[in-house]
Amino acid sequence: MSGEPKAKTLAKRYYHKRVELFRLIDKIKLWPSRRGVLHGIKSIEKVGDTAFITTHCNKTFMVNNSRNSRAARWLRNKWFKDVCTACGVPDWKLAKYSSTQFKRHYGSLLLEDNKKQ
Ligand SMILES: [Zn+2]
Repeated sequence: MSGEPKAKTLAKRYYHKRVELFRLIDKIKLWPSRRGVLHGIKSIEKVGDTAFITTHCNKTFMVNNSRNSRAARWLRNKWFKDVCTACGVPDWKLAKYSSTQFKRHYGSLLLEDNKKQ
């Protein structure tokens, strides 16, 4: 996260509801498990429309790049009960995530990876 200003108050960021799942997780590096636990993503290895995700607690799994998948919906709706303690997700990351809003008609689609938000 180099190059990002360390603002004391977090600006709200808006992402489009139809943002691709891969672009979204590339950006926020968080993953909601089926059990409602939010994990930190260590690495994403993309192979076409499939990606192998490794969490900081060393779980690896395969996901598809679907906007309508369970994970995509849960991420947009911020549905999680707990944060994985083994992953050690920093507070600033959670704060950033909670200040992120998903909008139906506007917001970034994260099409340009290098663009400053
Ligand atoms: Zn974890």
